[in-house]
Formats: sequence, structure tokens, C-alpha cells
Amino acid sequence: MRFRSCYIPTLKESPADAEVISHKLLVRAGMVRKLTSGIYVYMPTALRALKKIETVLREEMAAAGFEELLLPAVQPGDLWKESGRWTHYGKELLRFKDRNDRDYCLGPTHEEVITDVVRGEVRSYRQLPVRLFQIQTKFRDEIRPRFGLMRGREFVMKDGYSFDLDDAGAEASYAVCKKAYYNIFSRLGLRFRAVEADSGSIGGNFSHEFHVLADAGEDTIASCTQCEYAANIERAEVRFAGEKCTETCQAFEEVATPDAHSVEEVCSLLHLEPSRIVKTMIFVADGKPVAVLVRGDREVNDVKVKNLLHAEEVELAGPETVQAVTGAPVGFAGPVGLSVPVYADSELVAATDYVVGANKGDAHLMHVDLARDCTIEAYADLRLITEHDCCPRCGAPIELTRGIEVGHIFKLGCKYSSAMHCAYLDENGKEQLMVMGCYGIGVSRVLAAAIEQNHDENGIIFPPAIAPFVAEVINLDPADATVSSWAEKACQGLEAVCGEVLYDDREERPGIKFKDADLVGCPVQVILGGKGIARGVAETKNRLTGEKGTISLDQLEEGLKGFVAQVEATWAARKA
Ligand code: ATP
Ligand code: MG
Repeated sequence: MRFRSCYIPTLKESPADAEVISHKLLVRAGMVRKLTSGIYVYMPTALRALKKIETVLREEMAAAGFEELLLPAVQPGDLWKESGRWTHYGKELLRFKDRNDRDYCLGPTHEEVITDVVRGEVRSYRQLPVRLFQIQTKFRDEIRPRFGLMRGREFVMKDGYSFDLDDAGAEASYAVCKKAYYNIFSRLGLRFRAVEADSGSIGGNFSHEFHVLADAGEDTIASCTQCEYAANIERAEVRFAGEKCTETCQAFEEVATPDAHSVEEVCSLLHLEPSRIVKTMIFVADGKPVAVLVRGDREVNDVKVKNLLHAEEVELAGPETVQAVTGAPVGFAGPVGLSVPVYADSELVAATDYVVGANKGDAHLMHVDLARDCTIEAYADLRLITEHDCCPRCGAPIELTRGIEVGHIFKLGCKYSSAMHCAYLDENGKEQLMVMGCYGIGVSRVLAAAIEQNHDENGIIFPPAIAPFVAEVINLDPADATVSSWAEKACQGLEAVCGEVLYDDREERPGIKFKDADLVGCPVQVILGGKGIARGVAETKNRLTGEKGTISLDQLEEGLKGFVAQVEATWAARKA
């Protein structure tokens, strides 16, 4: 494919609204253009990359026993009312009405539709398991679309669904899909981690996320430095290994703390360590206020609060609610005498003699013994894990890294099959609910994540499995017939080993061609020019390592094969 006839509108400048590197580079490399907030045009090279990713997905899903189908993007509201998500899914669901005033939505995910399909077809245990997947455009009206393809409103997803006889069957489908995901992300050449995750609004009781490791990731992953344990920080357990304190302290007393709203301010005023302070956070859980206590040097994990209370929605209370619940402005809440339920983080049992807010402006209480002075509904793991905590499995140190969630697999149980009555007749003719699983990969997000993980100051460094073109041939002297003939030979040689080649024989200065080549990011670069040919060589550059070399024109075909293999090998070595 000649560069001059490809539609690759490269740019010098990044778009003003681009915050992350993948967004900047996707636009600069001419791969995407923004149509409107969170909605992008995939230009030809982006489409090539997406298709390559999709090929890997299709092969691995097929190997895992999943068959491809294509579900409609427009979904009837009635199905969502049946599952209960019409009210629960919130504003991410783009709803609209047809001319007959019937409710519809644009599919953000397809549990309802696939359940409707399967319940209409499957009658007998003999027809199970059913494993299906599709690759399709999804729409989610994200509150903050940003980071280009990483969090779009319209995006491409691979979503798979399994229907099994029982839990054991569902386990097997889940395991097979998890294995497929390992294969997929390994084949794509990405460094990734499978982590335990919270199940979010899709429901079900257990899930794993697949994260591409990259600094720009929106998620933090806590992984063990010794064992296999890795979890999204939202879920990462903190195991309290200390002892319960058996002592008590002197009676509490009020101290004036004018304008000391934050833990730091209170600490510096009272000359205390933050670990001696108990932070009281007021949350609203499904409309009801609750108080959550953590040590002054810790942060509350609201996902853990939500799970503890079995709540649909938990948010930090606003200033009015804080005032109504505590009688004090924000910064002075405390557990003593509160009338709302109080939940405390497990580690707070390890000490006594805490400082807490006095539920009164500009005042705190000193010498508080939580067991003696407050009513604590329950002690539980409610805080965020930190780098100073230990692995909940093996006790080794924990490491925090940033990740981009590219895939998510869930055990759904009977959530949808029970709400939507998706059942089969077992061997005894008795009706049973199907046990479901669902498995997503953000295809367009994978493209962005690959760039977040693989780039330098000059541009994209595509893993060969994702690159729109694995190889680019740069012809430095297109007017010279000898050079051009060698360049075309190089194209043919490369095409035989790594598919369609990008051939740059534009009448541009060499500098521009080199810059564009690095920006566009083909992993294999082969350069032909008058000087090299006079020396009997083609030049090479491995985009990943930056390493340059030469191939003798006498043995061009062999040399090119060897060079491609060498580039592939540097990628394979890097994965680990
Ligand atoms: P997130 O926590 O990032 O919002 P999610 O939990 O809502 O993700 P799922 O519902 O599990 O995501 O969707 C499956 C996959 O689809 C995700 O793992 C992710 O790769 C992709 N995805 C989700 N939302 C977006 C989006 N707004 N833009 C691009 N890809 C997305
Ligand atoms: Mg989401």
C-alpha cells in the first residue's frame, strides 16, 4: 500500500483537548478524528488495527467454544424493564422513543437481548451449554467522556455470554473464557494483569478484570510482589492482622480546634500523628445517611461500604446532609452521640485514645475509646489498601500500579435468567434456571491502551499483532529508478512474511518520511536510498528498540525475513 494513496492525514500538533498520549498520537498519526464529545471516526489505519485485534479475538473465542452472532444495537425498553435495569442503569443508558411512543435504548451491553434470544430457543438440558459472542458498537452516555478512545461514548466491544445447566457448568465456561483472555492479550503483545474486581452494576458475585499496565490507567491495581494475587484497588482486601486493644483511656474531653477541618490541620494543632485521629465520613447509602470511620492516615473505600451495606448507590454526603446529621459543618463530624448507624474499619480496634470530631463547629474530642464511647454497628474492612499493606493471601508486600481495564469477565449466576425467566427442562422434566456468565473486551480501548503502553516522544510503537502495517519501506530517492526498483523488491520480500506493507515513495524530504514513519509506528522499518545502494545495503530500524542495521542487497529476501524475526523476538522478550 503506497503512503501517497493511503488516507493517513498526519499532523504536527496534538489536539487541544487531548490529555493522554494515546489520544494525542491517534489524532496526530491520522488514525482517528473526533466527531463530537466521546464519538470518533476511525480512519483507515485505525480500522486496520481494530480488524487485526478482532481477528485475534475471533480466533480465541472460537477456540473457547463461543460462536459469533450479531445482536441489534437498538434495544426495546421493555426488556430492560423486565430485568429491572431500566430504572437502575442510570444516565449512561441513552433512551429514546419511536414514533409510537415506545421506549428504546442504544445498547450499552447486551445481557437483556441475549437472554431474550436464548430463552426463546433453548428448551432442554440437551441444548446447553450455549456460548455466544459478538463484536459491536456500544453506546454509553458516559458522564465524563475523555482520553480519546479510552473512554468514549460510542465504542467497539466484544461481548460474550454463556448459558449453563448449573454452577459447575458456569464455572467451566468462565474458566475457559479466562484462559482465552490470557491468550488474547498475550498474542496482542501487551503487558497485562488479570485482577480480581468488583462486579459493579452488571451484578453477579465474582469477576476478573484484565488490565493493560500503563501510567495513564484510570485504575489502580494492588498486586502481590510474591504470589499471583492482584486486585483492583476498589476490591483489594486489607487483612487486619493486629490484636484487639484491651486497654481503655481517660474520659474524653472537648478541645477547641478553630478552623481545623482537615486531618493535617488537627494534627498540627494538637501535635499528633494522623494515626491517632479517627476520620468520620458521612455517606448516603440508598438515601439513608451512615457514618464510616477510618484512621486519619487512611482513605475510605466506598465500594467496600456499598458491598457491606448491600446498597445500590453510595455517595459522600454533601455539606447540608453533614450539617443535618452531625449538627456541625464538614470537618467536625465524630462518632460520639451520632444517631445514624456507624461502621468502623477493622484496624480501629487496635488502639484507644483517639481524637474525633465533636459534632460541633471548631471542636474535637480527645481521649475517645470507641468501644466505650460510641455505638459501632460493625467493624469491617472498609479502607483502601496502601503500599504499606501486605498481601491478603501470602503476607508479602503489596505493589500499586496503574492499569487500563481492557476486559472484564463476570459470573452472573441467575441474575438475568431469574428476572427474565430463562429456563430449561432438566432430565426429570423439571424446570431449572440457566446459569449465566458475561465476558467483555473493549476493542477500541485495547487500541488506545496498546499505544499508552508502547510509545516514545516520536510516536506510536505498535506491537506487530496490532500494527495497521507490520512493515514500512521508505524510499529516500523515489526519482531514482534503481532505488525504486530495490525498494519495490523490499516491499515484495516483506509482504511475503508480514502481510501488506506501507510503502513511502512520496516526493518529500527524508526527514518528513522518517518522522511520519516513527509517528505511525510500524514495528519494522526498511530504508532504501542512493547512498545505501551504492554500498550494497538496505537499512533497517527496529521501532521498538530503535536499533539500526543493514541488510545486504545480495541476500535481500533472507535478510528481510531474518530482520522481521528479530523484531518479533524483541517483542516476545518484552512481554514478560
Ligand atoms: P469502566 O469501569 O472503565 O467504566 P465498565 O466496568 O463500565 O468499565 P464493562 O461494562 O465491563 O466496563 O465493559 C466491558 C469492557 O468495555 C471494559 O472492560 C472496557 O474495556 C470497555 N469499555 C467500557 N466502557 C468503555 C468506554 N466508555 N469506552 C471504551 N471502552 C469501554
Ligand atoms: Mg463504565
